[in-house]
Amino acid sequence: MKNTVVKTDNELVKYIKEVGESNFKKCFQCGTCSSVCPLSTEDRPFPRKEMIMAGWGMKEQLVSDLDPWLCYYCGECSKNCPRKAEPGELMMSLRRFLISAYDWTGISKILYKSKYAEYIAILIVALGVLIEWAVLFGLHPAAGATLEQAVSPDKIDYFFDWPITVFLGVMLTSFIYNMFRKTVLSDDSVKIPLKLYFTEGWSLMFNFFTQYRYAKCDDSEESSSKKLSTGKYNFWLTHLFLMISYVVLFVGIVFFLDWFQAENSLPYLHIILFDYFASIGLIFGTVYFVIKRLTKKIERSKFSHHTDWMFVILLFLTGVSGIVLRAAIVYKISVPSIFYIYLVHLMILFPMLVIEVPFSKWSHLAYRPVAIYFANLKEKAKSLNKNNAEIS
Ligand code: SF4
Ligand code: SF4
Repeated sequence: MKNTVVKTDNELVKYIKEVGESNFKKCFQCGTCSSVCPLSTEDRPFPRKEMIMAGWGMKEQLVSDLDPWLCYYCGECSKNCPRKAEPGELMMSLRRFLISAYDWTGISKILYKSKYAEYIAILIVALGVLIEWAVLFGLHPAAGATLEQAVSPDKIDYFFDWPITVFLGVMLTSFIYNMFRKTVLSDDSVKIPLKLYFTEGWSLMFNFFTQYRYAKCDDSEESSSKKLSTGKYNFWLTHLFLMISYVVLFVGIVFFLDWFQAENSLPYLHIILFDYFASIGLIFGTVYFVIKRLTKKIERSKFSHHTDWMFVILLFLTGVSGIVLRAAIVYKISVPSIFYIYLVHLMILFPMLVIEVPFSKWSHLAYRPVAIYFANLKEKAKSLNKNNAEIS
Protein backbone atom coordinates (compact mmCIF):
# COMPACT_ATOMS: atom_id res chain seq x y z
CA MET A 1 0.00 0.00 0.00
CA LYS A 2 1.28 3.45 -0.94
CA ASN A 3 1.89 5.79 2.00
CA THR A 4 0.75 9.38 1.51
CA VAL A 5 2.65 12.04 3.39
CA VAL A 6 0.41 14.95 4.31
CA LYS A 7 2.23 18.24 4.56
CA THR A 8 0.32 20.67 6.75
CA ASP A 9 0.53 24.29 5.74
CA ASN A 10 -0.49 26.47 8.67
CA GLU A 11 -0.22 29.63 6.61
CA LEU A 12 -2.80 28.21 4.25
CA VAL A 13 -5.21 27.40 7.11
CA LYS A 14 -4.85 30.98 8.28
CA TYR A 15 -5.40 32.33 4.76
CA ILE A 16 -8.57 30.28 4.20
CA LYS A 17 -9.95 31.62 7.50
CA GLU A 18 -9.11 35.16 6.46
CA VAL A 19 -10.89 35.03 3.10
CA GLY A 20 -14.20 33.60 4.28
CA GLU A 21 -16.34 32.80 7.28
CA SER A 22 -16.37 29.03 7.43
CA ASN A 23 -15.83 27.28 10.77
CA PHE A 24 -14.13 24.31 9.13
CA LYS A 25 -12.27 23.38 12.32
CA LYS A 26 -15.64 22.48 13.88
CA CYS A 27 -16.32 19.73 11.34
CA PHE A 28 -16.49 16.24 12.85
CA GLN A 29 -16.82 14.45 9.50
CA CYS A 30 -20.40 13.19 9.84
CA GLY A 31 -20.82 13.37 6.05
CA THR A 32 -24.28 15.01 6.11
CA CYS A 33 -23.08 17.83 3.84
CA SER A 34 -22.00 15.52 1.02
CA SER A 35 -25.15 13.44 1.27
CA VAL A 36 -27.47 16.48 0.95
CA CYS A 37 -25.40 18.25 -1.71
CA PRO A 38 -27.35 18.20 -5.01
CA LEU A 39 -24.17 18.49 -7.06
CA SER A 40 -21.66 16.16 -5.45
CA THR A 41 -21.37 12.57 -6.62
CA GLU A 42 -19.96 9.33 -5.23
CA ASP A 43 -16.67 9.97 -7.02
CA ARG A 44 -16.57 13.60 -5.93
CA PRO A 45 -17.92 13.69 -2.36
CA PHE A 46 -17.54 17.40 -1.73
CA PRO A 47 -17.65 19.42 0.51
CA ARG A 48 -16.79 16.90 3.24
CA LYS A 49 -13.33 16.09 1.86
CA GLU A 50 -12.56 19.80 1.46
CA MET A 51 -13.42 20.29 5.16
CA ILE A 52 -10.62 17.84 6.04
CA MET A 53 -8.19 19.25 3.49
CA ALA A 54 -8.76 22.81 4.74
CA GLY A 55 -8.52 21.80 8.40
CA TRP A 56 -5.22 20.04 7.73
CA GLY A 57 -3.90 22.73 5.41
CA MET A 58 -3.30 20.20 2.62
CA LYS A 59 -2.06 22.68 0.05
CA GLU A 60 -1.01 20.26 -2.67
CA GLN A 61 -4.36 18.47 -2.62
CA LEU A 62 -6.36 21.70 -2.48
CA VAL A 63 -4.50 23.36 -5.33
CA SER A 64 -5.21 20.38 -7.58
CA ASP A 65 -8.86 20.15 -6.52
CA LEU A 66 -11.47 21.15 -9.12
CA ASP A 67 -14.46 20.52 -6.88
CA PRO A 68 -14.78 23.99 -5.31
CA TRP A 69 -15.67 25.17 -8.83
CA LEU A 70 -18.34 22.50 -9.20
CA CYS A 71 -20.15 23.85 -6.11
CA TYR A 72 -22.66 26.61 -6.89
CA TYR A 73 -23.29 27.61 -3.29
CA CYS A 74 -26.89 26.47 -2.99
CA GLY A 75 -26.22 26.33 0.76
CA GLU A 76 -27.95 22.97 1.43
CA CYS A 77 -24.82 21.66 3.15
CA SER A 78 -24.55 24.65 5.48
CA LYS A 79 -28.26 24.49 6.31
CA ASN A 80 -27.97 20.85 7.33
CA CYS A 81 -24.58 20.81 9.04
CA PRO A 82 -25.10 19.83 12.70
CA ARG A 83 -21.92 21.67 13.72
CA LYS A 84 -22.70 24.93 11.91
CA ALA A 85 -19.32 24.56 10.26
CA GLU A 86 -20.52 26.42 7.12
CA PRO A 87 -19.22 24.01 4.46
CA GLY A 88 -20.83 26.05 1.65
CA GLU A 89 -18.88 29.09 2.79
CA LEU A 90 -15.71 27.00 2.91
CA MET A 91 -16.18 26.12 -0.78
CA MET A 92 -16.48 29.86 -1.47
CA SER A 93 -13.28 30.57 0.50
CA LEU A 94 -11.53 27.82 -1.44
CA ARG A 95 -12.55 29.41 -4.73
CA ARG A 96 -10.86 32.60 -3.49
CA PHE A 97 -7.81 30.60 -2.50
CA LEU A 98 -7.72 28.89 -5.91
CA ILE A 99 -7.97 32.19 -7.76
CA SER A 100 -4.88 33.32 -5.82
CA ALA A 101 -3.16 30.00 -6.55
CA TYR A 102 -3.64 30.27 -10.33
CA ASP A 103 -2.63 33.96 -10.35
CA TRP A 104 1.17 34.09 -10.77
CA THR A 105 1.27 37.86 -10.16
CA GLY A 106 0.20 37.52 -6.50
CA ILE A 107 -2.28 40.39 -6.92
CA SER A 108 -5.41 38.33 -6.14
CA LYS A 109 -3.98 37.22 -2.82
CA ILE A 110 -3.32 40.81 -1.77
CA LEU A 111 -6.80 41.93 -2.87
CA TYR A 112 -8.50 39.09 -1.00
CA LYS A 113 -6.58 39.78 2.18
CA SER A 114 -7.09 43.52 2.40
CA LYS A 115 -10.02 45.68 1.41
CA TYR A 116 -7.74 48.72 1.52
CA ALA A 117 -5.46 47.11 -1.04
CA GLU A 118 -8.50 46.68 -3.28
CA TYR A 119 -9.55 50.32 -2.86
CA ILE A 120 -6.00 51.49 -3.62
CA ALA A 121 -5.76 49.25 -6.71
CA ILE A 122 -9.05 50.64 -8.03
CA LEU A 123 -7.90 54.18 -7.38
CA ILE A 124 -4.59 53.59 -9.18
CA VAL A 125 -6.33 52.24 -12.29
CA ALA A 126 -8.86 55.10 -12.26
CA LEU A 127 -6.02 57.64 -11.99
CA GLY A 128 -4.18 55.86 -14.81
CA VAL A 129 -7.26 56.33 -17.01
CA LEU A 130 -7.44 60.00 -16.06
CA ILE A 131 -3.78 60.56 -16.97
CA GLU A 132 -4.08 58.66 -20.26
CA TRP A 133 -7.20 60.64 -21.15
CA ALA A 134 -5.50 63.94 -20.27
CA VAL A 135 -2.54 63.06 -22.52
CA LEU A 136 -4.76 61.98 -25.45
CA PHE A 137 -7.61 64.48 -25.28
CA GLY A 138 -6.62 67.10 -22.70
CA LEU A 139 -8.68 68.06 -19.70
CA HIS A 140 -11.08 70.28 -21.65
CA PRO A 141 -12.47 69.81 -25.19
CA ALA A 142 -11.49 72.50 -27.72
CA ALA A 143 -14.13 75.20 -28.20
CA GLY A 144 -16.58 74.25 -30.97
CA ALA A 145 -15.27 70.68 -31.30
CA THR A 146 -17.68 67.91 -32.30
CA LEU A 147 -17.86 64.81 -30.11
CA GLU A 148 -15.70 62.83 -32.53
CA GLN A 149 -13.08 65.55 -32.54
CA ALA A 150 -13.12 65.85 -28.74
CA VAL A 151 -13.12 62.11 -28.08
CA SER A 152 -11.82 60.30 -31.12
CA PRO A 153 -13.19 56.72 -31.36
CA ASP A 154 -9.92 55.68 -33.05
CA LYS A 155 -7.84 56.84 -30.12
CA ILE A 156 -10.21 55.17 -27.65
CA ASP A 157 -9.79 51.95 -29.69
CA TYR A 158 -6.00 52.09 -29.89
CA PHE A 159 -5.21 53.39 -26.43
CA PHE A 160 -8.01 51.98 -24.26
CA ASP A 161 -10.00 49.14 -25.83
CA TRP A 162 -7.32 47.12 -27.58
CA PRO A 163 -4.74 47.28 -24.76
CA ILE A 164 -7.33 46.16 -22.21
CA THR A 165 -8.45 43.31 -24.46
CA VAL A 166 -4.86 42.12 -24.87
CA PHE A 167 -4.19 42.51 -21.13
CA LEU A 168 -7.28 40.50 -20.16
CA GLY A 169 -6.57 37.87 -22.82
CA VAL A 170 -2.97 37.37 -21.61
CA MET A 171 -3.88 37.34 -17.91
CA LEU A 172 -6.83 34.99 -18.17
CA THR A 173 -5.11 32.63 -20.59
CA SER A 174 -2.01 32.35 -18.41
CA PHE A 175 -4.08 31.82 -15.24
CA ILE A 176 -6.19 29.17 -16.92
CA TYR A 177 -3.04 27.47 -18.16
CA ASN A 178 -1.81 27.48 -14.55
CA MET A 179 -5.08 25.90 -13.51
CA PHE A 180 -4.63 23.26 -16.22
CA ARG A 181 -1.10 22.51 -14.99
CA LYS A 182 -2.12 22.21 -11.36
CA THR A 183 -5.32 20.23 -11.83
CA VAL A 184 -4.86 18.14 -14.98
CA LEU A 185 -1.19 17.85 -15.94
CA SER A 186 -0.11 17.23 -12.35
CA ASP A 187 -2.58 14.35 -11.97
CA ASP A 188 -0.59 11.14 -12.60
CA SER A 189 -3.63 8.94 -12.06
CA VAL A 190 -5.14 9.74 -15.45
CA LYS A 191 -3.84 10.35 -18.96
CA ILE A 192 -6.22 12.25 -21.21
CA PRO A 193 -6.23 11.31 -24.92
CA LEU A 194 -5.81 14.37 -27.16
CA LYS A 195 -9.05 13.63 -29.00
CA LEU A 196 -11.08 14.08 -25.81
CA TYR A 197 -10.05 17.73 -25.53
CA PHE A 198 -11.96 18.36 -28.76
CA THR A 199 -14.91 16.05 -28.31
CA GLU A 200 -15.61 17.44 -24.83
CA GLY A 201 -15.18 21.06 -25.96
CA TRP A 202 -18.95 21.48 -26.17
CA SER A 203 -19.26 21.30 -22.35
CA LEU A 204 -17.02 24.34 -22.05
CA MET A 205 -19.23 26.43 -24.33
CA PHE A 206 -22.46 25.00 -22.99
CA ASN A 207 -21.62 25.72 -19.36
CA PHE A 208 -20.21 29.16 -20.08
CA PHE A 209 -23.29 30.32 -21.95
CA THR A 210 -25.98 28.60 -19.86
CA GLN A 211 -24.46 28.22 -16.36
CA TYR A 212 -26.76 25.24 -16.21
CA ARG A 213 -25.33 23.84 -12.98
CA TYR A 214 -27.04 26.69 -11.13
CA ALA A 215 -30.35 25.21 -12.21
CA LYS A 216 -29.30 21.86 -10.78
CA CYS A 217 -28.83 23.37 -7.32
CA ASP A 218 -32.48 22.53 -6.76
CA ASP A 219 -32.73 18.77 -7.19
CA SER A 220 -36.38 18.41 -6.14
CA GLU A 221 -38.70 16.31 -8.30
CA GLU A 222 -40.77 19.34 -9.38
CA SER A 223 -41.14 20.11 -13.08
CA SER A 224 -39.08 22.90 -14.61
CA SER A 225 -42.20 25.02 -15.17
CA LYS A 226 -43.14 24.66 -11.48
CA LYS A 227 -39.63 25.67 -10.44
CA LEU A 228 -39.81 28.63 -12.80
CA SER A 229 -43.18 29.79 -11.47
CA THR A 230 -42.18 29.38 -7.82
CA GLY A 231 -39.00 31.41 -8.30
CA LYS A 232 -36.59 28.53 -7.80
CA TYR A 233 -34.73 29.48 -10.97
CA ASN A 234 -34.57 33.20 -10.10
CA PHE A 235 -30.97 33.17 -8.94
CA TRP A 236 -29.76 31.19 -11.95
CA LEU A 237 -31.69 33.26 -14.50
CA THR A 238 -30.67 36.59 -12.97
CA HIS A 239 -27.05 35.49 -12.90
CA LEU A 240 -27.31 34.37 -16.52
CA PHE A 241 -28.93 37.66 -17.58
CA LEU A 242 -26.19 39.60 -15.81
CA MET A 243 -23.43 37.54 -17.42
CA ILE A 244 -24.88 37.79 -20.94
CA SER A 245 -25.37 41.55 -20.49
CA TYR A 246 -21.78 41.90 -19.46
CA VAL A 247 -20.49 39.86 -22.42
CA VAL A 248 -22.69 41.79 -24.88
CA LEU A 249 -21.45 45.09 -23.48
CA PHE A 250 -17.82 44.07 -23.53
CA VAL A 251 -17.99 42.83 -27.13
CA GLY A 252 -19.92 45.96 -28.12
CA ILE A 253 -17.45 48.38 -26.56
CA VAL A 254 -14.37 46.64 -27.90
CA PHE A 255 -15.55 45.90 -31.44
CA PHE A 256 -18.35 48.39 -32.17
CA LEU A 257 -17.34 51.54 -30.35
CA ASP A 258 -18.37 53.74 -33.29
CA TRP A 259 -21.96 52.64 -32.78
CA PHE A 260 -21.83 53.71 -29.15
CA GLN A 261 -20.67 57.16 -30.07
CA ALA A 262 -22.91 57.50 -33.10
CA GLU A 263 -26.00 59.64 -32.87
CA ASN A 264 -27.88 58.22 -35.85
CA SER A 265 -26.34 55.13 -37.40
CA LEU A 266 -28.10 51.82 -36.98
CA PRO A 267 -30.32 53.22 -34.26
CA TYR A 268 -32.40 50.14 -33.55
CA LEU A 269 -29.57 47.63 -33.46
CA HIS A 270 -27.19 49.48 -31.23
CA ILE A 271 -29.82 51.01 -28.98
CA ILE A 272 -31.77 47.85 -28.40
CA LEU A 273 -28.99 45.33 -28.40
CA PHE A 274 -26.21 47.15 -26.64
CA ASP A 275 -27.43 50.08 -24.65
CA TYR A 276 -30.69 48.94 -23.23
CA PHE A 277 -30.37 45.18 -23.00
CA ALA A 278 -26.87 45.19 -21.57
CA SER A 279 -27.23 48.17 -19.27
CA ILE A 280 -30.60 47.04 -17.92
CA GLY A 281 -29.10 43.58 -17.40
CA LEU A 282 -26.21 45.03 -15.42
CA ILE A 283 -28.39 47.28 -13.29
CA PHE A 284 -31.18 44.77 -12.69
CA GLY A 285 -28.73 41.96 -11.92
CA THR A 286 -26.58 43.97 -9.54
CA VAL A 287 -29.58 45.44 -7.66
CA TYR A 288 -30.99 41.91 -7.28
CA PHE A 289 -27.70 40.63 -5.81
CA VAL A 290 -27.25 43.66 -3.54
CA ILE A 291 -30.77 43.09 -2.11
CA LYS A 292 -29.97 39.40 -1.55
CA ARG A 293 -26.71 40.28 0.20
CA LEU A 294 -28.34 42.91 2.39
CA THR A 295 -31.32 40.79 3.43
CA LYS A 296 -29.17 37.61 3.91
CA LYS A 297 -32.26 35.45 3.54
CA ILE A 298 -30.64 32.72 1.50
CA GLU A 299 -27.55 30.73 2.48
CA ARG A 300 -25.45 31.82 -0.50
CA SER A 301 -25.92 35.49 0.41
CA LYS A 302 -25.38 35.18 4.15
CA PHE A 303 -21.71 36.11 4.06
CA SER A 304 -20.27 38.81 1.84
CA HIS A 305 -16.57 39.36 1.37
CA HIS A 306 -15.37 42.87 0.52
CA THR A 307 -14.52 41.67 -3.01
CA ASP A 308 -18.15 40.55 -3.51
CA TRP A 309 -19.37 44.03 -2.63
CA MET A 310 -16.82 45.81 -4.77
CA PHE A 311 -17.71 43.68 -7.79
CA VAL A 312 -21.44 44.42 -7.70
CA ILE A 313 -20.89 48.09 -6.91
CA LEU A 314 -18.50 48.58 -9.84
CA LEU A 315 -20.79 46.67 -12.19
CA PHE A 316 -23.77 48.76 -11.10
CA LEU A 317 -21.89 52.04 -11.54
CA THR A 318 -20.63 50.87 -14.95
CA GLY A 319 -24.22 50.21 -16.06
CA VAL A 320 -25.55 53.53 -14.71
CA SER A 321 -22.71 55.66 -16.10
CA GLY A 322 -23.06 53.84 -19.46
CA ILE A 323 -26.76 54.73 -19.64
CA VAL A 324 -26.11 58.35 -18.65
CA LEU A 325 -23.42 58.58 -21.33
CA ARG A 326 -25.67 57.10 -23.99
CA ALA A 327 -28.55 59.38 -23.01
CA ALA A 328 -26.22 62.39 -23.16
CA ILE A 329 -25.22 61.44 -26.73
CA VAL A 330 -28.76 60.62 -27.92
CA TYR A 331 -30.22 63.82 -26.41
CA LYS A 332 -27.29 65.84 -27.76
CA ILE A 333 -26.33 67.62 -24.58
CA SER A 334 -23.22 69.79 -24.86
CA VAL A 335 -19.94 68.25 -26.03
CA PRO A 336 -18.04 69.35 -22.87
CA SER A 337 -20.63 67.57 -20.67
CA ILE A 338 -20.36 64.37 -22.75
CA PHE A 339 -16.58 64.70 -22.60
CA TYR A 340 -16.58 64.59 -18.77
CA ILE A 341 -19.32 61.95 -18.48
CA TYR A 342 -17.30 59.75 -20.84
CA LEU A 343 -14.19 60.21 -18.71
CA VAL A 344 -16.05 59.29 -15.49
CA HIS A 345 -17.55 56.25 -17.20
CA LEU A 346 -14.09 55.01 -18.23
CA MET A 347 -12.71 55.68 -14.74
CA ILE A 348 -15.34 53.26 -13.41
CA LEU A 349 -15.25 50.75 -16.26
CA PHE A 350 -11.49 50.23 -16.34
CA PRO A 351 -10.97 49.40 -12.65
CA MET A 352 -13.84 46.94 -13.05
CA LEU A 353 -12.12 45.30 -16.03
CA VAL A 354 -8.51 45.47 -14.82
CA ILE A 355 -9.11 44.46 -11.20
CA GLU A 356 -12.29 42.41 -11.07
CA VAL A 357 -12.01 40.37 -14.25
CA PRO A 358 -8.65 38.61 -13.85
CA PHE A 359 -8.02 38.94 -10.10
CA SER A 360 -11.34 38.81 -8.33
CA LYS A 361 -14.98 37.78 -8.46
CA TRP A 362 -15.54 38.02 -12.22
CA SER A 363 -12.95 35.33 -12.85
CA HIS A 364 -15.46 32.76 -11.51
CA LEU A 365 -17.20 33.13 -14.86
CA ALA A 366 -14.10 31.87 -16.63
CA TYR A 367 -12.91 29.27 -14.12
CA ARG A 368 -16.23 27.50 -13.53
CA PRO A 369 -16.90 26.27 -17.09
CA VAL A 370 -13.22 25.43 -17.52
CA ALA A 371 -13.27 23.38 -14.30
CA ILE A 372 -16.38 21.51 -15.44
CA TYR A 373 -14.61 20.83 -18.74
CA PHE A 374 -11.46 19.55 -17.00
CA ALA A 375 -13.53 17.41 -14.61
CA ASN A 376 -15.44 15.92 -17.57
CA LEU A 377 -12.16 15.20 -19.36
CA LYS A 378 -10.78 13.36 -16.36
CA GLU A 379 -13.93 11.34 -15.82
CA LYS A 380 -14.21 10.37 -19.49
CA ALA A 381 -10.52 9.47 -19.67
CA LYS A 382 -10.80 7.31 -16.55
CA SER A 383 -13.77 5.41 -17.89
CA LEU A 384 -12.04 4.99 -21.29
CA ASN A 385 -8.92 3.63 -19.59
CA LYS A 386 -11.06 1.28 -17.51
CA ASN A 387 -12.89 -0.02 -20.59
CA ASN A 388 -9.60 -0.52 -22.45
CA ALA A 389 -8.14 -2.40 -19.49
CA GLU A 390 -11.20 -4.66 -19.34
CA ILE A 391 -10.96 -5.45 -23.07
CA SER A 392 -7.24 -6.23 -23.04
S1 SF4 B 1 -22.14 18.21 7.79
FE1 SF4 B 1 -20.81 19.63 8.92
S2 SF4 B 1 -19.84 18.40 10.48
FE2 SF4 B 1 -20.72 16.99 9.02
S3 SF4 B 1 -19.04 16.54 7.59
FE3 SF4 B 1 -20.18 18.22 6.74
S4 SF4 B 1 -19.16 20.06 7.45
FE4 SF4 B 1 -18.47 18.37 8.74
S1 SF4 C 1 -23.18 24.81 -1.26
FE1 SF4 C 1 -24.58 23.42 -2.30
S2 SF4 C 1 -23.42 22.76 -4.12
FE2 SF4 C 1 -21.96 23.66 -2.70
S3 SF4 C 1 -21.17 21.95 -1.55
FE3 SF4 C 1 -22.86 22.82 -0.38
S4 SF4 C 1 -24.63 21.63 -0.97
FE4 SF4 C 1 -23.05 21.26 -2.50
